[in-house]
Amino acid sequence: MSTENSQGPIICAAIARTRHRMVTMEIGEAARQGAKLIELRLDYLAKQPDFKRLLQNKPCPIIATVRRPVDGGRWSGTEDERMILIRQAIVSGFDYIDLETDIADKVRRFGNVKRIISYHNMREMPANLEEIHATMCKQDPDVVKIAVTAQEPADNLRILRLIRSSRVPTVGLCMGDLGTCSRVLSGLAGSPFTYTSFNRERSIAPGILTFADLKKIYFYEQIQPDTKVFGVIGDPIGHSLSPLLHNLAMRKVGFNGLYVPFRVPRGELADFLDAFQEIPVNGYSVTIPHKEAAARLAMQKSTDVEIMGAANTLLRSPQGFSAFNTDGMAAIDSLKANLPAAPDGTPGNLANRTVMILGAGGVARAIAHALARTGAGITITNRTEDRGKKLAEEVRCKFVDWAARHSFLCDTVINCTAVGMHPNLDESPIHHSYLRPNILVFDTIYTPENTMLIREAKARECHVLTGVDMFVRQAGHQFKMFTGMEPPLEYMSAVVRKALSPVNVKDEEP
Ligand code: NAP
Repeated sequence: MSTENSQGPIICAAIARTRHRMVTMEIGEAARQGAKLIELRLDYLAKQPDFKRLLQNKPCPIIATVRRPVDGGRWSGTEDERMILIRQAIVSGFDYIDLETDIADKVRRFGNVKRIISYHNMREMPANLEEIHATMCKQDPDVVKIAVTAQEPADNLRILRLIRSSRVPTVGLCMGDLGTCSRVLSGLAGSPFTYTSFNRERSIAPGILTFADLKKIYFYEQIQPDTKVFGVIGDPIGHSLSPLLHNLAMRKVGFNGLYVPFRVPRGELADFLDAFQEIPVNGYSVTIPHKEAAARLAMQKSTDVEIMGAANTLLRSPQGFSAFNTDGMAAIDSLKANLPAAPDGTPGNLANRTVMILGAGGVARAIAHALARTGAGITITNRTEDRGKKLAEEVRCKFVDWAARHSFLCDTVINCTAVGMHPNLDESPIHHSYLRPNILVFDTIYTPENTMLIREAKARECHVLTGVDMFVRQAGHQFKMFTGMEPPLEYMSAVVRKALSPVNVKDEEP
């Protein structure tokens, strides 16, 4: 396996289909997409495997795996039948055979077939992980594979340490969505390869990423020992667009970086930040539910973070983490870049605008504070009166009752509520009759981009500004802090719009 490793980590495409025809088709497709290693999950096949058919036109090395249910597989025959199939696979032209540690001693090495000695724990991270690994290293392996279930974020570090320190090439990973980061970071730790599911619809293990994700979002094969790591922390984090956006943007400008999703449960941020210094992770985007905790834990805070008590960015330095909030500045950038000119042609000026902010949550606060510094006339309205009044007092502006919002006239409306966000696509926080031609309507929601509010505003000839613009700009400010390079904003917008489009092909570059 050392030959593969010397070329950088490899993405193994696991193919798990019930029909031979689909298996051979996916082998061909995986090869076309650049797979250099394929795992065939023989336990998924509905019929007795026809090895000759499966291995004809073999485009790259192939691993034979017959996984039992206890290890996360689908094998439904007896153990004797499984052992017979494993022995047949060994003599049939596979390049690797996967042998679980409890059966490995019963199967002798044969010819050039390499041995992957594997251990799966679908329940937990075993206390004696290192002992298990040491035993496996004595079972004549070419590669040791350890897949355990992460119970806390730090379990990923234990696996990564094991990969790094092992003399035998070790593929280590944590299953579950707490462990997704280990599937990417394993490349940095020296894992010879990582497993991915080839088919997005047919995921074979909890938390597993797809072949396309690893290849075209994380650029796994290009990970180098000096690749700088960044990430996004939140819970949930699975649907975050930030890994796609930051990884593609870093790639676009030629920055050697890797941006990883970290699921961190509420209340665990301090321990997480401390533990992951070991990697180290150089900067984080921070999302729900950690924005307040990030602000509290930081050693240095920007003025915005001091005022708002919430941060969406953490930057690591020898003195500890510095906290920033890029939402407010992004919204102001978006507004300035999209302000309509006055009827006489003079460029738009925020100081001359009368703005109504709908909402008083985190985004409303960030925008209200940033907007207050521009001299704009602000009015806040919010469903929950106390919350709205409190924000209005903070930024010293007017508050109008939610029920009275339609009688307040303004030339700029900013929606900072969740009304209209997926899946409530037919809701709008303001009645369409309020929308007069030429006012500016800014909806901070970006899922979807064309909310009901935006659609109605366009129909009534308002100027419109969508949440995608702000989302890209807040990421752009983070990108600059992370990399020291100018963010490719237009490219980033195209990436986000493509990912959000109904025929979402998340894994392809725009
Ligand atoms: P938040 O802190 O939970 O605040 C939610 C706000 O929405 C509150 O003002 C809440 O009013 C109001 N709201 C929720 N449901 C409502 C309803 N049915 N009727 C009236 N008001 C309602 O959330 P946040 O973090 O500020 O996020 C708010 C929005 O900003 C989200 O929809 C998100 O899409 C968008 N966002 C955009 C970006 C970007 O970069 N473009 C970034 C982050 C978030 P109460 O106080 O009465 O509960």
